[in-house]
Amino acid sequence: MIRTRRSCTVLFTLMSFLALGRARLAHAQTASLPPKLSVHWEELTAADFREGIRRSQGTCLLPFGILEKHGPHLPLGTDLLDVRYAALHAAEQEYAVVFPEYYFGQIAEAKHEPGTIAYSRSLQMALLQETTDEMARNGCKKVLIVNGHGGNEHLLPYFAQTQLDKPHDYVVYVFDERTPQAGGPAKKTKIDMHAGESETSKMMISRPDTVHLDRATNESGADQARQKLPDGVYTGIWWYARFPNHYSGDGSAATKELGQYQMSWWIDSVVKAIKAIKADDVSLKLQTEFYEKTTHPLETQP
Ligand SMILES: [Zn+2]
Repeated sequence: MIRTRRSCTVLFTLMSFLALGRARLAHAQTASLPPKLSVHWEELTAADFREGIRRSQGTCLLPFGILEKHGPHLPLGTDLLDVRYAALHAAEQEYAVVFPEYYFGQIAEAKHEPGTIAYSRSLQMALLQETTDEMARNGCKKVLIVNGHGGNEHLLPYFAQTQLDKPHDYVVYVFDERTPQAGGPAKKTKIDMHAGESETSKMMISRPDTVHLDRATNESGADQARQKLPDGVYTGIWWYARFPNHYSGDGSAATKELGQYQMSWWIDSVVKAIKAIKADDVSLKLQTEFYEKTTHPLETQP
């Protein structure tokens, strides 16, 4: 009885020792690998956020979407869902911290449709400026806005240009491509600007559960060409004049193959942009030099 208890104690001690050894080994193995960090800003702890900023070399992504009708068959958040899918996958490949859901852009032209959230012009600019300022205050010295919404195509370059109006210790970059010019499966439609073949195909990759392909022909996405003006004359009502259903193209032509091709292209393009921005040591230097010169333009040498 005593002997049994003693041998049990010896065995237990030996097992504990071995277990401790294994635990130490496991700890040493994980300590040698850098811990996996989420690319989602909101999922990081404060300490991990600090490590994320170090690992991303201060490069942060701001995927920019909108809430607007997308034809009769796609969800209101299509642009945000698609752009976040591309940006998050890109950041997984080339580490960057990705800002949470942002859909506060320009969409006045869809205010006649249900579900559109169209903030005022002044709020759009103020919110975007304060957002990038706050990102920079937290170490994002290179902010890449990845645009998912065609209606922001003038807003974002204007925002980037107006960063020169007063000194900033960070650089705003804008990436505004969503669809490759050529290549991949042949497209079946000619007009393809909004909720059409390309955008519907990409949604079949990012969120197939939200695509109602059977409803894609319930409304017309044809160009109604109701305005007769020469090329080069711009009006804000041009979009409504051409596409009053807030639908441009024919989503029923969409395929998963086209979506896969375009989404892979988009992700690769964002990866290339992140790499180039990390390597860019010129923009901030020139910006700082420029700001200094703006304080004494008469002494600026040609
Ligand atoms: Zn869209």
